[in-house]
Amino acid sequence: MYLKSLEISGFKSFAKKAALNFTSPISSIVGPNGSGKSNVAEAFRFVLGEQSIKSMRGKRGEDLIFNGGGNDGSRVNRASVKVVFDNSKRMLNVDFEEVSLERVVHRDNSNEYFVNGSPVRLKDIVELLAHAHIGASGHHIISQGEADRILNANIRERREMIEDALGLKIYQYKKTESQRKLEKTEENMKSVESLRREIAPHLKFLKKQVEKVEKVQQLREELRGLYKEYFKREEVYLKSERTNTDHEKSPLSKELAELEKEINEARRILEQSKNRDAKSDELIAIESALHKIRLEKDAIMRDLGKIEGEIAASQRSLFKEKEKQNREESKTIYLKDVEEVVKKASLLESITEIKNLLLGFISLHKRKEDSINTEETERELASLRAKKIGLETSLKEIDEHEREKTLDYNNLRQKIEKEKDSNRDAEKNVFKIIARQNELRGVLNGIKSREEKLIIEEEAFKRELQEAYVLVGRECMDYKDVAISDEPRSAQHDRFRSIEKIKIRIEDSGTGSGMDIMKEHNEVEERDAFLTRELTDLEVSRKSMYDLIADLDLRIDVEFKNGILKINAQFQEFFSLMFGGGNASLNVIREKRRKKKLDTDISSVLEGQDEEEIFEEEEGEEGIEINVNLPRKKVKGLMMLSGGERALTSIALLFAVSQVNPPPFIILDETDAALDEANSRKYGDMIANLSKYSQLILITHNRETMSRAGVLYGVTMGSDGASKLLSIQFEEAVKVAK
Ligand code: ATP
Repeated sequence: MYLKSLEISGFKSFAKKAALNFTSPISSIVGPNGSGKSNVAEAFRFVLGEQSIKSMRGKRGEDLIFNGGGNDGSRVNRASVKVVFDNSKRMLNVDFEEVSLERVVHRDNSNEYFVNGSPVRLKDIVELLAHAHIGASGHHIISQGEADRILNANIRERREMIEDALGLKIYQYKKTESQRKLEKTEENMKSVESLRREIAPHLKFLKKQVEKVEKVQQLREELRGLYKEYFKREEVYLKSERTNTDHEKSPLSKELAELEKEINEARRILEQSKNRDAKSDELIAIESALHKIRLEKDAIMRDLGKIEGEIAASQRSLFKEKEKQNREESKTIYLKDVEEVVKKASLLESITEIKNLLLGFISLHKRKEDSINTEETERELASLRAKKIGLETSLKEIDEHEREKTLDYNNLRQKIEKEKDSNRDAEKNVFKIIARQNELRGVLNGIKSREEKLIIEEEAFKRELQEAYVLVGRECMDYKDVAISDEPRSAQHDRFRSIEKIKIRIEDSGTGSGMDIMKEHNEVEERDAFLTRELTDLEVSRKSMYDLIADLDLRIDVEFKNGILKINAQFQEFFSLMFGGGNASLNVIREKRRKKKLDTDISSVLEGQDEEEIFEEEEGEEGIEINVNLPRKKVKGLMMLSGGERALTSIALLFAVSQVNPPPFIILDETDAALDEANSRKYGDMIANLSKYSQLILITHNRETMSRAGVLYGVTMGSDGASKLLSIQFEEAVKVAK
């Protein structure tokens, strides 16, 4: 036994709390019409989660709440129903020995659900019960007058009812759930796909950009390599060029400076040649002076010769006279001389002095007498000799003069000659120097232009270094260690051209450092990868959902068909039991629908073609057909059955279904109302049999049915319009039921 108790409070006519304990396999609820028995069945529906208020005979949730019956009845604001299950066999999929479900409805139409006192969602209740093969509007609660509902239903509804009764609802529920999930999954797939589609062009664009960036990175790498070698070579080249020009220039400059000096000297010499005329004049002057000197000298020479002749003549006469003198004794004295001596003697003071004077006079005249002529000649000779000395001195002087002048002359001459020579040399030199200077200047100019070119190249080198630093980073500055071998300079130019080409390609790419693009690309790619994974996951889950649905379909199909077989066996049995023979069965059929042929147009209809040619049959939905064949009657088909026969048929089917897949409990609200006494007994037997499989709660007026119950509850309604419950005995029940 699963059902333990039901507690009703404020629900419909049950104003106050009322409780039913289901201690027996069959419990009956009896009472007069309108006392509130069906409200008990509805209380079951309510607590099991029924959402159709209509099926509980109300319009709004509020209708389920006791609204005061009579004049003194007081309204309540909430209706609650609690059902308690014995869960020791884990009929419900929760790990509790006992499970209570409670539902409360408020006047504002809000509902609350509880499992063992904890608030839960309706969904939780529905799932829990589906697992236990019970549910709100299920097959196991047959409301009053609803027994033949299955007979009235169409084939599809019947199928649903049978599926429900066979416990396939849980699969249906799972299938619906899976379909819902599948739809959701497909929706998600669509949105993921659309997200992927959305980002695809951007990703494509970024990929291209990244390719560009990578290309540029490659180019930069290439450029770095080229640059390093280029810089190394360029530095070596510039240094050696600088050294070369310096070396070449230095001796040339020195030589040029020397030449400058030389040319200045030569110019100075040439300048001096302007003084040459003055020198010539001087030379002429010296020549004429010499000429004069020589005339003078000739005169002196002549005089000197004359005097020398005179001297020789005098000397000869002197010699003659001296010779004559030595031979003559008498001397002649002049009176004048004697008078002069007397004059001088009278002036003397002493005789000694006069004596001396006289002695002197005598000696003189003694010689005079001999040598008057000699003395004269000697005087003449002396004068001549003096003259000669004078002339000799003059000659000496003039000789000296001449010698000096001659020297001057010769010097000047020599100078003039020399100047003439050096002028010629200087002129020659000037021309030579100028030629050499021109030559040197030409070479120096060449060097200078090379130097200027070198300066430009050095500046370009520095600029290139800076540019390289910006373009490919400081790494390219480590070019010093690059090993290089000899190559023609043109190879370096080719290298530079390659560098320029790469730079242009980098510039053209316009990607900058590319860090942003790489980052964005990675992000977008990650997002795309994430979406792809998501899509794969979704596909996997869709596949599993499909599989699950297919599984469920198969299971439902198999179990349904098996179920139908089993139900048919029971149905046949119960039917023949009820009717004392006959046949009854359920058939699974497929609806046939007429459908216009695809290739048919309206003209063919107008042309009066046969219907069959225009329409074709189409397979419709699968459903259940009920076939009955009453014994001893030629009646076939449900439409021809009487009210009682319909009741019996539906009871037979109901019981057959219940027996194949017994629910934990079944509530039958006056299912037996239309039965006569004989059939009531048969009904009673069937109930007794059914109660072996399912707990039964029977709302009835039928005495036979009551007699089968182990527990009886009487429902009464007082003047306050509120139902009351009381546990009663069979005799009482018979009375109460009336
Ligand atoms: P019968 O034997 O004729 O089928 P019953 O015993 O099954 O009768 P119910 O149909 O269960 O009787 O009860 C109907 C009674 O419940 C009516 O009298 C109705 O007025 C009362 N009732 C229904 N809803 C409410 C409510 N919200 N408040 C008060 N009374 C209500």
